[in-house]
Amino acid sequence: MTRHPASPHMIPSMVQSGELSAEEYVSFLFERIEQVDTKVHAYLQTDRDRAVAKARELDRRAKRGEKVGRLAGLGIAVKDNICVKSFQATCGSKILAGFNPPYSATAVLRAETEGAIVLGKTNLDEFGMGNTTQNSGFGPTLNPWDFARVPGGSSGGSAAAVTAGMASASLGSDTGGSIRCPASFCSVVGLKPTYGRVSRYGLIAYANSLEQIGPIGPDAETVSLLFESIAGHDPQDPTSSDVEVGTGHETGIKGLRIGRVKEFFGAGAQPKVSETVMDSCDRLEASGAKVGETSIASLPHALPVYYIIAMAEASSNLSRYDGVRYGMPTEKGTADWNAAFARTRSDGFGEEVRRRILLGTFILTAGYYDAYYVRAQKVRALLTQEFELAFKSFDVLIGPTMPVVPPKLGEKVTPLEDYLIDVNTVAANLTGLPAISVPCGFVGGLPVGIQVIAPSFREDVLLQVARVMGKEHGVKLAPPAGAS
Ligand code: GLN
Repeated sequence: MTRHPASPHMIPSMVQSGELSAEEYVSFLFERIEQVDTKVHAYLQTDRDRAVAKARELDRRAKRGEKVGRLAGLGIAVKDNICVKSFQATCGSKILAGFNPPYSATAVLRAETEGAIVLGKTNLDEFGMGNTTQNSGFGPTLNPWDFARVPGGSSGGSAAAVTAGMASASLGSDTGGSIRCPASFCSVVGLKPTYGRVSRYGLIAYANSLEQIGPIGPDAETVSLLFESIAGHDPQDPTSSDVEVGTGHETGIKGLRIGRVKEFFGAGAQPKVSETVMDSCDRLEASGAKVGETSIASLPHALPVYYIIAMAEASSNLSRYDGVRYGMPTEKGTADWNAAFARTRSDGFGEEVRRRILLGTFILTAGYYDAYYVRAQKVRALLTQEFELAFKSFDVLIGPTMPVVPPKLGEKVTPLEDYLIDVNTVAANLTGLPAISVPCGFVGGLPVGIQVIAPSFREDVLLQVARVMGKEHGVKLAPPAGAS
């Protein structure tokens, strides 16, 4: 059985007109899940009955001539750190196994209001900490392009579900690259919106000053639809914004000033990956953009600054999992609370999460707070200023999303080597800027993504670039060999 022939963004109008029944489409996606997910393991949980009931309701409304919404019939997969009522939310962690949130995230509610149907919850690195999905407490997800390789992370399940045709689109979260990394490794489009653009209400926090919920889809058109549906102010999230979503540059990408950031092609980048991205820049130029080179001097500091801030915030956010407030108590009825907390946290958290809690706690201790945390925040401010300056000369900035092609599963790397591949993605989180990963080619049959970064709230321009790349540059978004 092959994937559905219609691009997801065509589905809502087909459902509205009655040309396609939502029930038929959703059933198709579930058959695809049954066939493919035994190999990929993108989902942690699915609910076919719930989805089919919602699809039938949409079909009834379409028949009555009622408006069914701009996402009508789209089957979406939701990362398992985003709450959906009636599904578990485990964050890929044993400590939250069996946790049923009593409410849905605002982003999910908004998508559902527009007619999207949640198919299930997807696998991730525990609490979003990682870039391979191997840190999940429930086993890794495999890359549908090559089952021996990782799909990226931490939203690996959400990207793999889309590329394997097991969802029309998906929601992920991006704290330091977790939407863009798996989008790049799976050859799909993934957008990290501007900080504050999408409500974080119902997103279980890892490092809340850095993260955003965002869409992943097979093409820019589908990602635009989902993005526009979930964006906007939410009284439940005081950091959310009501800035209107733009409509792109009037001239498309003709004359668009693209800055190729020197540091994004730095040490550690696989030469063939850099070449593929350079070729893509040439094609953008052929489509009318003006490409020049630029430099962001503080970029080499972005990675250590990110890991200091992310770990500090994580150590504070994850203190609530103690078996009393949240999490499964391992020892019941003990009088020694410290021992009980320690047991719950030692048994429930995986190795990477424990490492980050320890390092984060260290960073925040009185003697080291100024030396690490405060300094990191200063460099963060500097980085923001340097990006602002670069945007005086360029409309968007560009580089490889990931410096490497997807690594093999179980490839032996130290935690530090693992952190290094986030080198190009973390700056957008530190500065709050919107960034997108768009498929731009292959190296040895493995996907390569290009990252485009825009000024705050200019996701419209990013999507415009992504649309042109999808239409004019012939980058194959077709199903991978492993799951066609
Ligand atoms: N790989 C990065 C980390 O482990 C980013 C994770 C994310 O964006 N959630 O922190």
